Amino acid sequence: DIAVPESHPRYESLLTRHRIEAGVEKGITSQQGLIAQGRGEAFDYLLGERTIESADVAARVAAAHLLLAEHPVLSVNGNVAALCPGELVELADVVGADLEVNLFNRTDERMRAIVDHLREHGATDVRGLTADGRIPGIDHERAKVDAEGIGAADVVLVPLEDGDRAEALGAMGTVELVVDLNPLSRSAQVATVPIVDNVIRAVPNVTRHARDLTDASEADLRAIVEAFDAEATLDAAERAIRDGTEREA
Ligand code: ATP
Ligand code: MG
Repeated sequence: DIAVPESHPRYESLLTRHRIEAGVEKGITSQQGLIAQGRGEAFDYLLGERTIESADVAARVAAAHLLLAEHPVLSVNGNVAALCPGELVELADVVGADLEVNLFNRTDERMRAIVDHLREHGATDVRGLTADGRIPGIDHERAKVDAEGIGAADVVLVPLEDGDRAEALGAMGTVELVVDLNPLSRSAQVATVPIVDNVIRAVPNVTRHARDLTDASEADLRAIVEAFDAEATLDAAERAIRDGTEREA
């Protein structure tokens, strides 16, 4: 697979990079996705390539939202599909969510390649190809969603969403759970729940919390959701980047 010894100090980071490269080769990830990956890596480096405590709390809150939702959807783009397809399928399974392919640079080829890739990783139904709904307030191509998917969702997990679309989705009243390594990114800023962590770590962490919370009462889940402070979470992440003091989760 990849000729990097596990003992290499940058093993995880190199493995991640390799997955994105392979994604580009398979037609899953766009060239733009490579740039997004580079930006993410820089923030991950500054965070110490670990899940900081505030991100772990946010992951638990995200799990509570997904379990409370009537119609949760996990949005999948070309980077996420390349980085953690199996983990997304597992999370969808645990919380009973739909998977929907949702691309910034939408082409039919990439849509289909990602749907096939998710199926290879165990997904049965994958939404996104119908594209009969629109997110109001953004231009045509980028506004496309499935009317019965993201169009009808009450809670959406959008890992690495573009800032504009994250804002427009929020304006529809959708609860947005955003995974983004940059706490200053507009996507993180407009999220109901910003998880400042690498998707590679964050997605399985949300699944772990969801499993842990499966038997929690609705009242307990609501209490977890209501106690959350998005702004304080972003501040904590920014502090962790600035002085590297926040403890590991
Ligand atoms: P905006 O401010 O409008 O949100 P942006 O700065 O987010 O724009 P992009 O470069 O398009 O612009 O977005 C890529 C985002 O995805 C960056 O914030 C980057 O930190 C994040 N990112 C990239 N790879 C990962 C990853 N593996 N896990 C989590 N976040 C990632
Ligand atoms: Mg962003």
